[in-house]
Amino acid sequence: MIPKLSEVSPIQTKYLSFIERLNASGFAGDTNPDYANRVVLSTDNSIYQVLPQGVIYPKNTDDIQRLVRLSNQEEFHDIVLSPRGGGTGTNGQSLTDGLIVDLSKYMNRILEINVEEGWARVETGVVKDQLNKAIKPHGLFFAPELSTSNRATIGGMINTDASGQGSVMYGKTRDHVLSLKTVLLDGELLESFPIDDETLSSIQSGSDYSAHAHRTVDAIQKTKAQEIQDTFPELNRCLTGYDLAHIRTEDGLFNMNSVLCGSEGTLGFIVEAKVNLLPIPTYAALVNIRYNSFEGSLRHARELLAVNPTSIETVDSKVLGLAKGDIIWNSVAEFFPEKTGENIQGINLVEYTDNSEQNLADRIKVLTDKLDALAEQGGSNTLGYTIAMGHSNVNKIWAMRKKSVGLLGNAEGEKRPIPFVEDTAVPPENLADFIMEFRAVLDSYEVQYGMFGHVDAGVLHVRPALDLKDESQEPMIREITDKVVALTQKYNGLLWGEHGKGVRSEYAPAFFGDLYSSVQQVKGAFDPRNQLNPGKIATPFELGVDLLKIDEVPLRGQFDRQIPIKNREQFKEGMYCNGNGACYNFDPNDAMCPSWKGTRDRKHSPKGRASLMREWLRGMSEQGVDTAKASKSVKHSNALISFFPKLKNTIEKRRGAYDFSNEVHESMMGCLACKSCVGQCPIKVDVPEFRAKFLELYYSRYLRPAKDYLIGSLEFMVPTMAIFPRTYNWLMDRKWANKLSSKYLGLTDNPKLSKYNLKKEMSLRGIRLATPLAIESLSYKDRSRAVIVVQDAFTSYFETQLVLDTMELLSRLGFQAYLAPYMPNGKPLHVHGFMRAFNKTARKNLDMLQSLSFYGLPFIGIDPSMTLTYRSEYTKAFGHNRQIPKIHLMQEWLAEKKDHLIKQPLMCEESTYHLMTHCTEKTNAAGSIKDWQQVYSLLGLELKVENVGCCGMAGTYGHETANKDTSKTIYELSWKEKVNAPELSNKLVATGYSCRSQAKRFDDANLPHPIQVLLKHVREVVIQ
Ligand SMILES: Cc1cc2nc3c(=O)[nH]c(=O)nc-3n(C[C@H](O)[C@H](O)[C@H](O)COP(=O)(O)OP(=O)(O)OC[C@H]3O[C@@H](n4cnc5c(N)ncnc54)[C@H](O)[C@@H]3O)c2cc1C
Ligand code: SF4
Ligand code: SF4
Repeated sequence: MIPKLSEVSPIQTKYLSFIERLNASGFAGDTNPDYANRVVLSTDNSIYQVLPQGVIYPKNTDDIQRLVRLSNQEEFHDIVLSPRGGGTGTNGQSLTDGLIVDLSKYMNRILEINVEEGWARVETGVVKDQLNKAIKPHGLFFAPELSTSNRATIGGMINTDASGQGSVMYGKTRDHVLSLKTVLLDGELLESFPIDDETLSSIQSGSDYSAHAHRTVDAIQKTKAQEIQDTFPELNRCLTGYDLAHIRTEDGLFNMNSVLCGSEGTLGFIVEAKVNLLPIPTYAALVNIRYNSFEGSLRHARELLAVNPTSIETVDSKVLGLAKGDIIWNSVAEFFPEKTGENIQGINLVEYTDNSEQNLADRIKVLTDKLDALAEQGGSNTLGYTIAMGHSNVNKIWAMRKKSVGLLGNAEGEKRPIPFVEDTAVPPENLADFIMEFRAVLDSYEVQYGMFGHVDAGVLHVRPALDLKDESQEPMIREITDKVVALTQKYNGLLWGEHGKGVRSEYAPAFFGDLYSSVQQVKGAFDPRNQLNPGKIATPFELGVDLLKIDEVPLRGQFDRQIPIKNREQFKEGMYCNGNGACYNFDPNDAMCPSWKGTRDRKHSPKGRASLMREWLRGMSEQGVDTAKASKSVKHSNALISFFPKLKNTIEKRRGAYDFSNEVHESMMGCLACKSCVGQCPIKVDVPEFRAKFLELYYSRYLRPAKDYLIGSLEFMVPTMAIFPRTYNWLMDRKWANKLSSKYLGLTDNPKLSKYNLKKEMSLRGIRLATPLAIESLSYKDRSRAVIVVQDAFTSYFETQLVLDTMELLSRLGFQAYLAPYMPNGKPLHVHGFMRAFNKTARKNLDMLQSLSFYGLPFIGIDPSMTLTYRSEYTKAFGHNRQIPKIHLMQEWLAEKKDHLIKQPLMCEESTYHLMTHCTEKTNAAGSIKDWQQVYSLLGLELKVENVGCCGMAGTYGHETANKDTSKTIYELSWKEKVNAPELSNKLVATGYSCRSQAKRFDDANLPHPIQVLLKHVREVVIQ
């Protein structure tokens, strides 16, 4: 039995009383001093880990004003507040040991879009892609780009002055800010935009923080003009934090926004922004040039600038190799052909956008003519090029490039690429030489790294691979950073070229020299007591306190190394999460991660769960628990003997006894086990796998609820239940029965059994059961046409018609289809962490399948989720110890059988269908979605793939009473609209049993399986 984890780092009393007073002040948002929230928000994407005292989620500007006014009271002058958006900072920008104020949970409304004047007014918790999605129908976009566009907030972008690909054309975030509303530390709301001197002096005449700040900044601008000019480098990426070089606009107006943009939450809470929007260029193309040397690609990029592209990005072979191993490669592979013998070492992605198609073509031709001439001369290092035409193709390649940052973290082994010198900027003409020296520094430490960057802007992204769990590697952070800082100075560049300063602000005083005291004065005018995100950018001059130091802030590796290697190894599916936040993707039509989208609670995200898991393992390790041993002993424990201790612990828990395991459990129970994280997380964090291991251990201490046993045994009970389908269904139809089940069993809206009895129907229709004997007796010819359909509990007993239709379709297509005997697959057991029972069930099932696999007949499964269990959960459970037969998804196998799918003249009334994908299938077998399209096309039909997220059911998750509301919320985020769209009526097909039952439950919609539509078509052809 695992011990109780009751000793967690306590909250300081001053913070507790601050939170109490805040709650009493009419604060409408959430205040969360619980350990789970604190742990989850203790990391961003940096190497650091700092435990906050609590997390505050304000609902609106009033809330933030309440918060700062309280912090302004004398007794709370040492309370520290750190604003936070998406938490994707790479340098610890939003980390604090005070209170985190997260604006992304509630303050994420788009307030106004003015299409005519081309601007939008947003709360700053709005995610960049969320804004772009809303304005796309108007032909507009918010131009500053960044790799984290699907989860970084406008507030975070403004505060780091974010930019990325395309910055030479479109500039940085500050270039698109029209006005800002900022809550200053005295509680007043500053509205800032470029102002004339008259307005400036009127503001300066006041006595509040705003007046003081305006006086200070104005005085610095006027008295230090020469020093500012000498200190601030002339780069495409102007230096922010604080940008004293642009206080006056070109028209001579005073612009406080130049100081606020890039201030990293150290001057105030920016609550609202008015940003300008640009028309989306009508035409876009990317020329993708391949090179046999990375240096060659960098040096060639300079020449490419002369052909006037919109942007140029360079990627090295390491990054490309990682992209190749990811799900995303499916969508872009055609643009990066690799001929035999070729060794691609670098790529330049040259982007062109234009409003005239002819102009675009002419501009591209100038480039391709040059490339062709170069190839004829055999010169340069180019290997060839492809052209991706149109926004859709261009966006696919940019998505791959954006994901590559995260993918870098997915290197094998313990040394993983980490950010600390990852965004240097130098004048583009110095870039190639700078990089060569940079590489020499890294090579001298024998560290591995991947590189890519915005070569047009002189920005390089590098993440050296270190293992900070190994104490001896820690000093390299300081040594390498010092050397890189010196190199950037040598090449007239910056250490902080793109991602802001954060903990690396330590290098600011040396960089600014005498001017640093002015930077400090700015800080002091806005935040005289150093309460806002202290230790970053600058400290108030008068206080004489230091900035943070890169080697004094706690490192995540320092915590992780407290977990013994064997415990880390056992939970490796969560250990490598590097916090890049790709799982915070805002898009409801993306499969990642439904529980986060349905709750907007970061505890309920893959990153949240991985963070809690690591902290839980650390706690267990502190208590001397060997988790692998503990799991083993659970598997051999006696349920009767452990019952009473568990009962006692459960009673204590109900009475409110604290155990951190309960907080972890709550987060794990919110997971749908949809496996989208496994497919889409660049690091392949696998929540269902480590969750199952956690649950097994958790229930060695506490009693399981009855529903777990019911769900776990469903696959075993269902054949018996199916003997009396009418009685069972009658019961399930009664409202009182549902109420009772919901209340006492924890299960609601239980699905009804099929009215058909599979066994009976099989004999009526002559469907053959697969047995070793039956297969052995097949002739060689028959064997070549034979296929075995593997049953699963859901389709066989709740959707029997689908099994029958599958068998009919296969036989009409000319195959000899056999049905494997029904055996529980074990997935529900795995989901709920019954690991011993799962292993036993899987073993038996494998025995059965292996007895049939002797003659090499193909196996196919109908339900994607159950079928994919063989590839993941089974493989993980048995490793190399057992051979697991390949169970194809239906479409994967059909797509290989082109000869059988002869194109027929279209006989169906409908010829175009729309596929509502199942998330596990879409994210874990991405290529198979195209297979469906191919199969449809071979049969003369068209299948369009609808962009949808999760349906919210995920096996039995949606049937658990505790999850019903979230399940419905998730369904409504993306499925509901499509299921009810009149233009899609009778045209939708869905592959997942869960998805079909969810559409039925909430919208009374009957979505057929794609096979059933094919069958209808094939039947009609034959009838004709
Ligand atoms: C994989 C990866 C790729 C990245 N690629 C890029 C890139 O291409 N270009 C780029 O510029 N950056 C990039 N970054 C860095 C990061 O995404 C950006 O800095 C982003 O702008 C941060 O936004 P956020 O909402 O996550 O802010 P957070 O990380 O939450 O906060 C960033 C800073 O802003 C402050 N802040 C946030 N909201 C407010 C507010 N409303 N008021 C006051 N202060 C606030 C915080 O205190 C903090 O100092 C990348 C990061 C990762 C992990
Ligand atoms: S779970 Fe994956 S996607 Fe989410 S933060 Fe961790 S590594 Fe990134
Ligand atoms: S399995 Fe699904 S719900 Fe669970 S963490 Fe992963 S993406 Fe989120």
